[in-house]
Amino acid sequence: MYAGRFAPSPTGPLHFGSLVAALASWLDARAASGRWQVRIEDLDPPREQPRAAGQILRALESLGLEWDRPVAYQSRRRMLYRDALERLTGKTYACGCSRKEVADSALAMNAAGVYPGTCRNGLPAGKTSRALRVRTTAEPICFVDRVQGKIEQSVERDVGDFIVCRADGQFAYQLAVVVDDAEQGITDVVRGADLLDSTARQIYLQRLLGYPTPRYLHVPVAVNAVGEKLSKQAGARAIELTGAKDQLRTALAFLGQPEAANLREAVRSWDPGLIPARRMVTAPDAPE
Ligand SMILES: [Zn+2]
Repeated sequence: MYAGRFAPSPTGPLHFGSLVAALASWLDARAASGRWQVRIEDLDPPREQPRAAGQILRALESLGLEWDRPVAYQSRRRMLYRDALERLTGKTYACGCSRKEVADSALAMNAAGVYPGTCRNGLPAGKTSRALRVRTTAEPICFVDRVQGKIEQSVERDVGDFIVCRADGQFAYQLAVVVDDAEQGITDVVRGADLLDSTARQIYLQRLLGYPTPRYLHVPVAVNAVGEKLSKQAGARAIELTGAKDQLRTALAFLGQPEAANLREAVRSWDPGLIPARRMVTAPDAPE
């Protein structure tokens, strides 16, 4: 049975980009007569706003995007991530590099953003562990995204060994997502294309942990007039509850779907084949 999810971080109220992702995921689940759940990704307290989770849930409710199971909070699921981390023993190693050291050596090797493997064969003398990294391999990860098409990435070459847990016990997003999707039986991940680049890492972890790989559908990311991604951090305006109908209509159009009088109609006419892979247009809530 189809199981989908919407997994926002509570860093601010629902903005247009996350509404698009939520709506696409909800419609895809409903069109497949599947279940749909919401997971609050609250593993990064410094970035969070205390009332954001409640605001996001109320916005979804007022839009009519109802969920089927109790809302899951990552902050209450740390035991699951710890278990998964234990199962990765032997495939992870301690890294003592600071963010700056990683950036500097990656730059020196002309591979910005890639971890150069400094601590792969043991912590350099005088270093203490700052994070656990998972050992990656050159073998490319391939998957077919339902909108973006065939994607191939060598995690070792393009990302390098990546962090799964910090020394302070903070679990990495990549690990938590993979554990949650598997534990919640998610069959279909529908989300914004800003996460397309994370997908190969997530599939890599799924394989190491013996989890099934869900189907993926990455919807285009909404950008503002100057081409910046609309995000809560960029101060994108919250979805106005009073304008819910307009917001849904605009989000449907953004997803390339035919007009619909209500959500039931939108479910009936839902066609992922119409979703554009990229969308460089002005999002409707950009003007102040
Ligand atoms: Zn290191």
